[in-house]
Amino acid sequence: MASDSSTKKVKVCVVGAGVAGLAAARELRREGHDVAVLEQAGGVGGQWLYEEDTAIDGTDPLGVAGVHSSVYASLRLITPRETMGFSDFPFRPTGDGDARRFPCHAEFLRSRRGEVETEEVFDAVVVAVGNYSQPRLPSIDGMDTWRRRQLHSHSYRVPDSFDGEGVVVVGCNVSGKDIALELCRIAMEVHISARSTEEAMATPAMSKMLARHGNLHLRPLIARLCEDGTAVFADGSRVVADAVVYCTGYNYSYPFLGTGGKVTVDDNRVGPLYEHVFPPELAPSLSFLGIPAMVVVPRFYEAKARWVAQVLSGRRELSPAGEMLRAAEEYVRGREAAGVEKRRTHDVFDLGEEFCECSCGFPRLEEWTKELIWSSINAMLDDVEAFRDDFHGTELVADGLRRHGWIQLAPAPQPPHLEDIDVDDDNEEGLQPVQTNQTVASPLGLINSA
Ligand SMILES: Cc1cc2nc3c(=O)[nH]c(=O)nc-3n(C[C@H](O)[C@H](O)[C@H](O)COP(=O)(O)OP(=O)(O)OC[C@H]3O[C@@H](n4cnc5c(N)ncnc54)[C@H](O)[C@@H]3O)c2cc1C
Repeated sequence: MASDSSTKKVKVCVVGAGVAGLAAARELRREGHDVAVLEQAGGVGGQWLYEEDTAIDGTDPLGVAGVHSSVYASLRLITPRETMGFSDFPFRPTGDGDARRFPCHAEFLRSRRGEVETEEVFDAVVVAVGNYSQPRLPSIDGMDTWRRRQLHSHSYRVPDSFDGEGVVVVGCNVSGKDIALELCRIAMEVHISARSTEEAMATPAMSKMLARHGNLHLRPLIARLCEDGTAVFADGSRVVADAVVYCTGYNYSYPFLGTGGKVTVDDNRVGPLYEHVFPPELAPSLSFLGIPAMVVVPRFYEAKARWVAQVLSGRRELSPAGEMLRAAEEYVRGREAAGVEKRRTHDVFDLGEEFCECSCGFPRLEEWTKELIWSSINAMLDDVEAFRDDFHGTELVADGLRRHGWIQLAPAPQPPHLEDIDVDDDNEEGLQPVQTNQTVASPLGLINSA
């Protein structure tokens, strides 16, 4: 690491003013660089800049042209607000918004607003254009000639127009489940079509959904769409549907970027990229932020942005291009050896602790935050419909929340009184005090400390 006196200041262009772009701009400025942010939309916030009009009944039902945000009206975060702040700018309730732990999407946007600038000539470019705007569509026999409604979740906003309809939702990841659950309250029938019904049932979430909603059915892949409106599934079952909603994910796309083949996108594998950020041949003047999925946002972006800023100033050194290339190739080989599909190359499933600390001195997460993250994910896998409102953290989480001012200090738990001791007749281990649930009232919901 170089000393401060030897660091240099460069002119950097950040493309995109979503969470990743804003994190980049801030870290670059903090490091003393000149920064311009280019944003195509009318404001900052990226995905969280909700766009009501998606022309689903008009010219672009599959959402392949134009609109950036894929956020639908009812969307609530799946990640707890306590983990969604920048390192020195926590995402706290403000009193006049949505104070819940898993708030509505507009609450997140309110907390991220800033300013936008433009410039022309740059020493470096940071690409932070997001990965959830170019719909990824399946190829289904009959899809081109099917006359009824088809749309991608990118274009879905509200359920009203599906009233009384038969709907097939293709894909059962988070958006597929969320949208199917919203639709089954208004549609006549909803059929959620999964690549593998066994995998879809692997966690309790799906069976709980099916048990609660009699008009929700799990189906395998669609084999064919017929002109009369019939959807035929891979197991031979068929339904007549009014609409198909494709919740089938997104493609990475950089149409504005000319790298002469030094960076390519192949089935959602962007590469070669060292640590998902630097193309070895073009580093450090070109970098990408926000490519990895399944990471803690914005923390992960913030740390990578700090790293880029410090590399550009000379405070940190990159390995030689050949070494970075070998590391990037090794990462890809590792994923392939583990049987990960190419399109999932950038699904990281890692808190990135070690990298963040070693690459730019980014502080590690406290244990309670890690537990909050993992327990939120587990709660979602257990009950995707209820987890946002019925989340119970452990004592470690409750203690962390208290110490960091997310909830008010609660009195220390008292030993149970004799009358609180319950006797379970079936308890073969003998008389045991039942653990009392010390429930702490908080503005973010109920934190169960037991
Ligand atoms: C439905 C949905 C729900 C989600 N829920 C959660 C959640 O609960 N928790 C969570 O952590 N994450 C969630 N995410 C993921 C979320 O998108 C990321 O957390 C994060 O907001 C991505 O930030 P980003 O800056 O990388 O991209 P974006 O937010 O997409 O921002 C990219 C920006 O770049 C701009 N841009 C694009 N191309 C250009 C160009 N050529 N020139 C100039 N500007 C350009 C865009 O207009 C946009 O403003 C969700 C995503 C979706 C789609």
